[in-house]
Amino acid sequence: MRNPNFKAFLLILILTLCFYACNNTQNTPSRGLLATSKNQPKFIFLFIGDGMSFSQVNITKAAHLNKNFRLNKKPNFGNEPMHISRLPITGIATTFAADRYITESAAAGTALATGKKTSCGTIAMAPDHTQNYKTIAEMARDKGMKVGIVSSVSIDHATPACFYAHHSDRGKYTDISLQMAATDFDFFGGGFAKGHDSSSESKNIIKKMKEHGYKVVTSKAELQKTSPGEKCWAYNTNLADGAALQYEIDQSEDYFRLADFTAEGIRLLHNEKGFFIMIESGKIDWACHANDAVTASYEVIALDEAVGEALKFYNQHPDETLIIVTGDHETGGLTLGYAATKYESIFDILNFQKISFENFSLKVNQWKESPYISQPAVMDSIQYYFGLNDVSKSEKLVLNNFEMKKIADAYQATFNPDTEKDAHETYILYGGYDPLTVTITHILNQKAGVDWASYSHTGLPVPIYAIGAGQENFVGQLDNTDIPNKIIQIAKLN
Ligand SMILES: [Zn+2]
Repeated sequence: MRNPNFKAFLLILILTLCFYACNNTQNTPSRGLLATSKNQPKFIFLFIGDGMSFSQVNITKAAHLNKNFRLNKKPNFGNEPMHISRLPITGIATTFAADRYITESAAAGTALATGKKTSCGTIAMAPDHTQNYKTIAEMARDKGMKVGIVSSVSIDHATPACFYAHHSDRGKYTDISLQMAATDFDFFGGGFAKGHDSSSESKNIIKKMKEHGYKVVTSKAELQKTSPGEKCWAYNTNLADGAALQYEIDQSEDYFRLADFTAEGIRLLHNEKGFFIMIESGKIDWACHANDAVTASYEVIALDEAVGEALKFYNQHPDETLIIVTGDHETGGLTLGYAATKYESIFDILNFQKISFENFSLKVNQWKESPYISQPAVMDSIQYYFGLNDVSKSEKLVLNNFEMKKIADAYQATFNPDTEKDAHETYILYGGYDPLTVTITHILNQKAGVDWASYSHTGLPVPIYAIGAGQENFVGQLDNTDIPNKIIQIAKLN
């Protein structure tokens, strides 16, 4: 090249191209265009912690550091971090509904199942209920993949329902659970169906499922004997309120738990064409509505154990598996800090709670029937189940006068309620729960440096954790609808 002008031109051209190339890689990628993984996920796990945001995960992590946290419960992680903490990708998702900033599980479940916003209370339909929204589970089924839906609450509850049903009202449990049968999904597992009524021909969900070719099993042993290829509905018959699994904190070691349904679900669904499975830990939310941080933490651990089962599968199929863990919304306005404890965190004392608020409330209800019940006797039970006032365990558990007064007031509200008392004030104090129980969990939580802002959901965003094929799509600031939309895109579901 003899022409110096041409050389200069070439140099400028190269520099210009370099500038654009470098600049492009530094640009913030638009949310929909980040798919750079060569591998298309074939085995897709979507874990949902109902009511789980950063606080719920972090209080569990913090309490988890104490190897005694699970006391006699199994499996014991010791000082190992949670599985969720090991997932390499983290993102953050907004949760607002179509008609309200603070969402609930039907609108949030619809967003996570369909990639579209809807109104509160709506199951996988448009906000005005004129149109069904197709779910990623239905898309996966239509693509020839196997599909599983697992939840620790009833299988017709809002979150699981959003993946297989379409209804204008999340409260119509019978209508919703009847829709399971026609889905042709391969596996349903966890709690029972709230809408089932064996005395009614039209509300007998078990009969309907059998008519549609489902094998219905009610124990871990029976589920283990089920073969891949058999369509199966498995539920635990040892249930708590709302046809849900018992709280993890109240379960015995041989309980048929969320992780068992997950492990067996994976075994049943594993096939060459791939699968989609949604697994919900639904009672994090319920414990947080009741402002019981310890019970909520155990439900986060139940979710984490189920994630552990998915990670075992991932380790065998790392190039084709995608695991996503998120929440549908935050519940309770849980925070790691409290006015009276200032900068101190005393998570250790949470170890001494050994019962859920629900089972303690059941005891309180029994005591209400007894003519011999007295406040000192109740205080002994509070010490036994929550450690409060047990100096032998920790001086941090000693109740001060302010706390004793709160317990005395709550004792009165439980055993001799003042019918003249302002309902608004009673609600702020006790949230509609048993006054004594909610006061005890408040006091134990506050002594640990943990507090609550609400008995309802809040508008906080939720975390996203991911690992596997296409994981990089879930980093950064997303909306809950982006999660299924990205799954649809990278797994080519439609
Ligand atoms: Zn809730």
